[in-house]
Parts: sequence; structure tokens; C-alpha cells
Amino acid sequence: MSSFGVLPIDARQVPFDALIAASGKCLEGVPGMGFVFADKAALANAAGNSHSLAMDLFDQYTYMAKTGQWRFTPPTHVVAALHEALLQYNEEGGLPARYQRYANNCQVQLDEMAKLGLRSFLPAAIQAPIIVTFHAPKDPRYQFKAFYERVKARGFILYPGKLTQVETFRVGCIGHVNQAEMRAAVATIAEVLREMEVLDT
Ligand SMILES: *Cc1c(COP(=O)(O)O)cnc(C)c1O
Repeated sequence: MSSFGVLPIDARQVPFDALIAASGKCLEGVPGMGFVFADKAALANAAGNSHSLAMDLFDQYTYMAKTGQWRFTPPTHVVAALHEALLQYNEEGGLPARYQRYANNCQVQLDEMAKLGLRSFLPAAIQAPIIVTFHAPKDPRYQFKAFYERVKARGFILYPGKLTQVETFRVGCIGHVNQAEMRAAVATIAEVLREMEVLDT
């Protein structure tokens, strides 16, 4: 879901019944549409299982196979935007090129944050170039909500909320952004943390 289009996934090496992804994220379309690659036998076995009318994948699949239509009004603008996003994906050079741009974004983030004394939560060896989790400054004056709001007021949206038991914050590497924007984001983070008096550099 989070890495589709950037990290390779091969059904012969990672067996799965279904793979679900969406129009946003690494494909860089607008949000609003999901799609599924499913093993046809697994999908057929799921017939009648759905508790939801809208999310009934088997029904959607059979209806589309029969009529060539979505069961309900499709989000035409999202489909058009995804089509354009896929053209741009191929123009950029497909998976290897997008992987490299995100990997560069990730590396710039890690390097610039390290200069501020901010450590990443995961070891480099298992860090994917999608979103990076950093340990928050230890200072009691640090509050995630205030930090988030101040960074936002300066034009950068951090990933909302924290995932871990320990105090952390997360910054995305994906989207139509490059190293210059990553540097600007970290510079803004530094500015805000200095203002909150939780950074001594
Ligand atoms: C992005 C994401 C979602 C939400 O999908 P949207 O299309 O952005 O609403 C759900 N689960 C995971 C794991 C995701 O990465």
C-alpha cells in the first residue's frame, strides 16, 4: 500500500492473494481511488463474504467483467489524474527512477536531521525511503502538537501523529518533491525547534 510503485514486489517471491494500493502515495496521483491485484481463485472464494455493499470486491469484479462499467459512478477526475500520474511516472523512468529520487530525499533528511542531533528511529539498513521516524528532542518543552502546528504555519505538513510508544515524529519522503524541498523542510523544522528552545545547535 505505502510503497507500491517504488519498492519492487514480485508475486513469485512474495506470495500473496491480493495486493491493494491507491492512487495517491508513490504513484503521486490525487487520493480517492484504490485498486487490487488479486488471485482469481481467492477472489472467487470470497464471493458473498463482504459485509459492505460498496466494498464488495467480488461483485465489483464480476460486474465490470460483464459490463465494462464500475458499479457506481466512478470518480472520473481521480481516474483522469491517475492516468496522467502514470504517464509522469513512466516519463520519470518508472520504478528505478522514482526509487532513486525518494532514496535521495530520505538520505538528505537523515543527513540534515543528524546535523541537528536528531536520530532516526530505525537502523539505516531497514529504513525504506517512504517515511522516516525520528526520535523527538528530549527537552520537556517539546510538544508534538505545538511543533506540528508551527511547522505547518511555515508551509510544511508533517505526518500527523506518532506511531511508537517512545516520543517520535515522522517526515515523508514521497510525493512530487526533491532534495531541495527536503532541505527546506528540515531547515524549517530546525527553526521551529530552536524557537521552542529544544535545540541547542
Ligand atoms: C495510505 C495508506 C492508507 C490510506 O490510503 P488512502 O488512499 O491514502 O486513503 C491505508 N493503509 C496504509 C498502510 C497506507 O499506507
